[in-house]
Amino acid sequence: MSQTLSSGCDLSNHSTPGRIEVIAGPMFSGKSEELIRRLKGAQIAKRRVLCFKSNLDARYHRTAIASHNSQTLDAQTVANVEGLKSVLFPLIDGIEVIGIDEAQFFDPSLVPLSLELMQLGKRIVIAGLDTTFSGDPFPPIPDLMAVADEVVKLSAVCMQCGAPAVHTQRLGSSQSLVLVGAAGLYEARCRACFRPYVDENASEQLELPAVVS
Ligand code: ADP
Ligand code: MG
Ligand code: ZN
Repeated sequence: MSQTLSSGCDLSNHSTPGRIEVIAGPMFSGKSEELIRRLKGAQIAKRRVLCFKSNLDARYHRTAIASHNSQTLDAQTVANVEGLKSVLFPLIDGIEVIGIDEAQFFDPSLVPLSLELMQLGKRIVIAGLDTTFSGDPFPPIPDLMAVADEVVKLSAVCMQCGAPAVHTQRLGSSQSLVLVGAAGLYEARCRACFRPYVDENASEQLELPAVVS
């Protein structure tokens, strides 16, 4: 199918080199918003876009990625990297831009897959949490940041003091790494206000400040 912009510029034979873009930061920092903005821009440029998210993230929508300020973009929900491949590979020749939200829910094989897709000439835009609620690097985002062409690290607003927030504070005592939720379960915190969980016993004793809603 011929693709033209309103200028008449023919885009169908326009080959671009592959590229990996990573959008990282804590919860509420605008990662999904930025991912949606970039993918919508690609659609305006008549690029064929396919977006994925983990089925662990069922907040707001099952068939779309969503930001906390209610922007959405259609997405395929997949269980893991294998599931992503089985949806993507049959369509691969027709897809130019691949978006992945909540990439911290995927296993480390996302890194070689991203490199493979880049070598095929695809643009891959990946959003994910760069640190856990303990403040540690959250695989596979750090490795993706290392191999990326472009990394954007966003900060949120600390819900305790209003300073730039680089951390995701878990409220409550669950230690599970994958506990999906939004406001109420987590909040953005600056370095000074962040209280990382160290171990299970410590977390039970942790005195958390009141939640600001
Ligand atoms: P992420 O994907 O990084 O979790 P989203 O793109 O879903 O972030 O949401 C960003 C939006 O969240 C902001 O534009 C703002 O409307 C809202 N928001 C809620 N709490 C905060 C906060 N503490 N800091 C910044 N933005 C916040
Ligand atoms: Mg998000
Ligand atoms: Zn603070």
